[in-house]
Amino acid sequence: MEYIDLKAQFRRIEAKIRERMDKVLAHGQFIMGPEVRELEERLAALTGASHCVTCGSGSMALDLIVMAWGLGPGDAVFTTPLTFIATAESIARAGATPIFVDTGPDYNLDASHLERAVRAVRAADPSIYPLPLAARQNRLRPRAIVAVDLFGHPADYDTILELARKEELLVLEDAAQSLGGSYKGRSVGNCGCHATAVSFFPAKPLGCYGDGGAVLTNDAELGALIDSLRYHGRASAKDKNDNVRLGVNGRLDTLQAAVVLAKLEVFADELQARAVVASRYHTLLATVPGLTPAPLPRTGDATPWAQYTVLLPEGTDRARVMDALRSADIPTAINYPKALHTQGAFAYLGYAAGDFPVVQSLTPRVLSLPMHPYLDEATQTVVVSALHDALVERA
Ligand SMILES: *Cc1c(COP(=O)(O)O)cnc(C)c1O
Repeated sequence: MEYIDLKAQFRRIEAKIRERMDKVLAHGQFIMGPEVRELEERLAALTGASHCVTCGSGSMALDLIVMAWGLGPGDAVFTTPLTFIATAESIARAGATPIFVDTGPDYNLDASHLERAVRAVRAADPSIYPLPLAARQNRLRPRAIVAVDLFGHPADYDTILELARKEELLVLEDAAQSLGGSYKGRSVGNCGCHATAVSFFPAKPLGCYGDGGAVLTNDAELGALIDSLRYHGRASAKDKNDNVRLGVNGRLDTLQAAVVLAKLEVFADELQARAVVASRYHTLLATVPGLTPAPLPRTGDATPWAQYTVLLPEGTDRARVMDALRSADIPTAINYPKALHTQGAFAYLGYAAGDFPVVQSLTPRVLSLPMHPYLDEATQTVVVSALHDALVERA
């Protein structure tokens, strides 16, 4: 059994992929070829964002936004500790300080904590909200919020954006897992945030065959700046040897753009299939005692279901459950085994493991099940009955 069945997808779209890639091989413009621009136009149309700049990865998309905003030493950037390392890594690599905020039971940042976290930073007072060492020793300047749409579900943008307006903070939407979703009728990438980062890592809902990513924004100036930064700070597309600022090599390969263009042809259909798979899991899992199915998106919101992550009953030996599933040929994953404030890379921040009680209670219990558009009902039944047996044996 596959955790994410890219082979089934390839069987379906092989002809489209080969045709797109052959075209690139024939024209030979491997860097910034016409497919790159075509993809940017298609993604802008898909999301409603006025500007799209593709780049080398989702991590690079985050880095480029952080770079463009000039976040750095002395700046406080609020984010969730329950995410992939890249979210906070880009903040910290720029010299800014990640300020973690606990999540809710839906795995996303609990926006009702943000106001206290901002107040704690302004006062350098950890009695208001847990703070990293640097924010206890100095009054850092609150600059931005990086919200993550974890597992594909949009974060609570009304609350986040209202606080951001009040506190004059920039908002970055880490949509590495949520492209194709929507918040209150607005597509991810165009939910009102200042900029959105997406990823085409192969396992994401819209993936390429390597690394890839993009920035979406309605801010023309920011779009132009990021377009320059991803290409060594060039002045314009006309003269790559006139470099007006320090940038990076952050471009998306033409071949990868071609792959995403081919996959876009079936993306809407795959999103529908993902929703069917998720709702089948929801029904089937109701029969498993003590297990909490993946949270549903808010009414009116849409998610691409990048992961289907359940909560095991408290006290379950998760490793044993995973072993039992593995011996039945059922792959599972843990997203994420270690919250970021407990990662060695962030030890210097000086957080305590118990600073974020909700995240602390979730991480030992999360388990992600096979999730992709080509998962059929019979296979899902096998997954759920194996999970049922593994949990009931325990009792
Ligand atoms: C995958 C992911 C990233 C990084 O994307 P890459 O394309 O792998 O660099 C960033 N944030 C989140 C939440 C992710 O899931």
